[in-house]
Amino acid sequence: MSDQPMHQCDLCGHPEAESLIRLGTGRAMRSDRVVVAADLDKSRCCCCGLVRSTTLPDDTTLRSYYGDEYTVAASDYVFWTADGPLLRSEIFCSWLSEAMGVFRWEKAKRCLEVGAGAGALMEQFVRRFPHLTVEGVELGPEAKVARERGFTVRQSPVEEEPEGQFDIVYCIAVLEHVRSPSAFLAELRKRLRPGGLLYLSQPTQDVPSYDLFFVDHLYHFGTDHLRAYARKCGFRELGFVVGHRLMPNFSLHLWQAEDLADDFAWHGPPGRTDCAAAAQRISNDLHRLDETLADLQRRGRVVATFGLNEVFGLARAYSNLGTYPLCCGLSDDPAAGPAGLSFPVLRPEACSDHGVEDVLLTVNAIYYPQLIRRLTPLGVAVHPVLT
Ligand SMILES: [Zn+2]
Repeated sequence: MSDQPMHQCDLCGHPEAESLIRLGTGRAMRSDRVVVAADLDKSRCCCCGLVRSTTLPDDTTLRSYYGDEYTVAASDYVFWTADGPLLRSEIFCSWLSEAMGVFRWEKAKRCLEVGAGAGALMEQFVRRFPHLTVEGVELGPEAKVARERGFTVRQSPVEEEPEGQFDIVYCIAVLEHVRSPSAFLAELRKRLRPGGLLYLSQPTQDVPSYDLFFVDHLYHFGTDHLRAYARKCGFRELGFVVGHRLMPNFSLHLWQAEDLADDFAWHGPPGRTDCAAAAQRISNDLHRLDETLADLQRRGRVVATFGLNEVFGLARAYSNLGTYPLCCGLSDDPAAGPAGLSFPVLRPEACSDHGVEDVLLTVNAIYYPQLIRRLTPLGVAVHPVLT
């Protein structure tokens, strides 16, 4: 991989950074949970505390992160809530339009989504605000899908959009993927008419977040960092919200285009984030998992894992689970497991038929109590992976 070393901080310009996480398993997890051949290496700026990939991927590597198989943008994610299923696009449409004044959307005429995917969120905004002209840009092949569905989505970089035309620009889960957030935000500002609004939402490091372990997330922002980016890139912060009830590690920021500041410098101590604590906690959990796996292998136990989503991806990328001979995966929806597994996926109740003796819990820790109650009567030993 011919990554270029990153010489200075994109936000404050400081030349020095300290290592935060270095995992050299040769496997790394992407934000769509696919495990790719790479090492994970993140650093923290010694001045402003912004966490970033230690090296910036070159174009070829970056493209390899977002090939046709990159699935996050292509489909709409469903959240299973107590009130029934909710689409990710519905949730973001409500959050963006309601959190800081619906009047802003009622007043707007022309609006641009940057990173529009297949148009799922555009569809929600068009339905909710029929007076609004919503256009999009998308670098990936989903742009074609969006056009086939009747949306105006151009497959080109935002730099090619007309300047000074849009009342609102919005951008969901994109900023953490770009090589220079400063340059990208400056381009977004140019698209806005004077006084136009920018809505940004992406993972926040104000609260614990796994996304530190996503190889394709190049930056990890706390609120302090985003506020400084606003100042640096010619915006006034109108408001922000940390955490949505269904997406606690996402934040939403509303900025208004204003005159560009003449000079920008980071003042004061590093911005606050949970990055160092999260890195330590998850690294310890993965180390403990390696010890558990070594013990199980030594004792010749038959091992399955429950849960094949994010925590499984994390463990498969960054611990010896990636090469461990699992007997099977367990899931309540065996057909929905990830592609390319080397073992069968069964319902948990079938595990005794396969002689399973031990089950790793590769799911969010909030599910542990109910899973332990459910799996223990099946006669298996249960091993939580996260603390
Ligand atoms: Zn910095």
